[in-house]
Amino acid sequence: MKRLFSLNAVSRIVFLLLTPVFFQYFAFGFIWHSIYWGVVTFVVLVWMGFILITPLFGRIGCGWFCFMGTAYDLSSRHASRATKWNKPKTWVRLLILILFFASAIAFYVVNSGKGITHNFAVIPSFLALDFSMHYKIAWMVDVSLAVIFGLLLDRRWGCRNLCLMGTLCAAGAHHSRLIPVVDVEKCTGCGKCEQDCLLRIPMLDYIKNNKGLITNSECILCGKCIESCKVNAVKLKFVWNRKKYKNQIQGSYQKG
Ligand code: SF4
Ligand code: SF4
Ligand code: SF4
Repeated sequence: MKRLFSLNAVSRIVFLLLTPVFFQYFAFGFIWHSIYWGVVTFVVLVWMGFILITPLFGRIGCGWFCFMGTAYDLSSRHASRATKWNKPKTWVRLLILILFFASAIAFYVVNSGKGITHNFAVIPSFLALDFSMHYKIAWMVDVSLAVIFGLLLDRRWGCRNLCLMGTLCAAGAHHSRLIPVVDVEKCTGCGKCEQDCLLRIPMLDYIKNNKGLITNSECILCGKCIESCKVNAVKLKFVWNRKKYKNQIQGSYQKG
């Protein structure tokens, strides 16, 4: 499994470098433009897909493909500060979500009145009009902001507080079936997984109080904790029934 997760860095760097080429198909900011024009574009379909799979596969979109997340990680690994886990600010997340959709819908209504919307027809290539330089500039601005945030703020602070896709994906990932699971019998409590976690998730709390199930909706399934653990105590598993799993673990303690 460790070998599989060593591909994570490759996947993320490839997507970071490729996004300028297909930015208009992937950058979720363009969902705003899609609503504005009343069109279901490719970018809408991609992100709907990532959100819809979260109850099953968690946030693999955030951990394996998102160029912004990669830019945050590349810069924040060189930042000197080291802080503890900070919960996302729910009110900030909700405010951004409301402002984003309310403003897009308001523009849609205005455009609708002018008769220039498209009744939400599915036109995947719609945003691939002749704005290619515009898209490259937008990519540079986005990546620069992510790098600056990564340098100045806590790890993936932007993902935890500002990103509306992060908010929507976290809502779905709350009950993700695919999660990191720590074998509490093997774990030595060294804390290396917690130190290395890209989201600074408090792994030791979950090991101690949640029978090793890492059920944090901010987990992006990057596998860093799996790579970090020297005793191979962390695995990515499908846990279909969390309560049943915890009861089984409890039962095995009692027998032991
Ligand atoms: S939270 Fe947003 S910026 Fe962060 S990885 Fe997920 S989609 Fe990308
Ligand atoms: S790195 Fe492994 S042994 Fe150390 S605390 Fe994490 S799970 Fe336990
Ligand atoms: S818990 Fe593990 S898989 Fe999840 S974000 Fe942290 S390091 Fe990545």
